[in-house]
Amino acid sequence: MAQQRSRLSPALFLLVLAAALLAPVPGLAAQARNIILMIGDGMGPSQVWATRLYAMRELGRDLRMVELMNRGRTAFLGNDTLDAIVTESAAAATQMACGVRVPARAVGMGPDGKTPCKTILEFAGEMGKKSGLVTTSRITDATPAAFSAHVEDRDGENSVAAQQLRLGVDVLLGGGRRHFLPDSAGGARKDARNLLDEARGEGYALPTTGIELQRAGGARILGLFSMGNMAFDIDRSRTDEPSLGEMTAKALEVLGRNPKGLFAMIEGGRIDHAAHGNDTAATIRDVLAFDEAVGIALDFQRRNPDTLVIVTADHETGGMALTGIGGGTAINFAAIRGARSSLETLLAELAVTPTAARIRRAVSARLALAISDEEAKVLAGESYRKDTTQTYIPTPRSLVSILQRHLGVGWATSGHTASPVFVFGAGPGSEGINGFRHNTDLFRMMRDALGSSGVKIQ
Ligand SMILES: [Zn+2]
Repeated sequence: MAQQRSRLSPALFLLVLAAALLAPVPGLAAQARNIILMIGDGMGPSQVWATRLYAMRELGRDLRMVELMNRGRTAFLGNDTLDAIVTESAAAATQMACGVRVPARAVGMGPDGKTPCKTILEFAGEMGKKSGLVTTSRITDATPAAFSAHVEDRDGENSVAAQQLRLGVDVLLGGGRRHFLPDSAGGARKDARNLLDEARGEGYALPTTGIELQRAGGARILGLFSMGNMAFDIDRSRTDEPSLGEMTAKALEVLGRNPKGLFAMIEGGRIDHAAHGNDTAATIRDVLAFDEAVGIALDFQRRNPDTLVIVTADHETGGMALTGIGGGTAINFAAIRGARSSLETLLAELAVTPTAARIRRAVSARLALAISDEEAKVLAGESYRKDTTQTYIPTPRSLVSILQRHLGVGWATSGHTASPVFVFGAGPGSEGINGFRHNTDLFRMMRDALGSSGVKIQ
């Protein structure tokens, strides 16, 4: 080697040296002024593919997510945690927010589950960036909470609400108003604090409907459109709630005014709940609503090229399987398009022991499906008890399997699965999205894109 080096002419040596200095250093990504992280909660590969088939065949268009996949970079993402192969949202979101493997249920806590870990949103805030969280679930639910709060158990949503305001997250849009209100005002807080009044005092606008959100001005918005979760998109027309796309547009408009940039986490929070309920139509329609929000982020990126957009999921929910009708090859996308409400709304309307005729009428009116007398009799044998302590009404297995027969879509579980999910993105700092990655890698990608890799990580 020494002999070879001695043969390099001085000119060639300088050329090699210059090339080495100019070459990108591995691990150092290009810098992004803005980061938009979008999480489809429970959105596994089957959810994405089913929605793409639906969009292409029923709506005559492709998904904005596919536009991003094809223009940018795409990878698979593993999501196992410190203590589980099958994760839940708190650990998954914390792993993305902090970059370390953590145990289940803790929010914004490190590997011991009780020491706060510094989140990417907090890093961005230290750099003078404005921050925003948007979800169709509760704004205090596990995914947005993991970026903006530190609690040992995800059920500590009242604490999450107070921490989100104390941290000064500039835009908070979603459901979960009950965690900002004292019980004397119909809320869930036992400490008598009215965080909405406190937020108003801090200069937040407080819209409660889609129209009010459009009109909201100022640099800070706390928009809580429901006491609990917002509606499934398939049910949303019965409410005056804004869409996920409308919330995303407002958040980016407000945060985008900051010369130092923004960090926003946008969540399709109810994809997960629809998939927990094994509700094919509601799942696809919520993925479509999420896709619309992705499109708005891409339009923002076109106007602001120094923006890193990353789209992924925290885990897959339901074990969704495109089985084909009767083991055949077709999926009944026409019925999915004709569905008028979620299964949850349908189930909520049924009596505890409905008649077969009543069930047939409900399935026809709500789901655009004609089930047989035999099937209706099987369903009439179920007890439709509503467990109001759950965030969703579980769907009886008999209904899930009869719907599979008619739609060609089956579900393996009412829980989560360990399926890997997609991650795709474009913009400065997206270079690391390739191959098979782990969700803890996303934190490092985002931190490097912020150019804060020199900051000591806690
Ligand atoms: Zn879930």
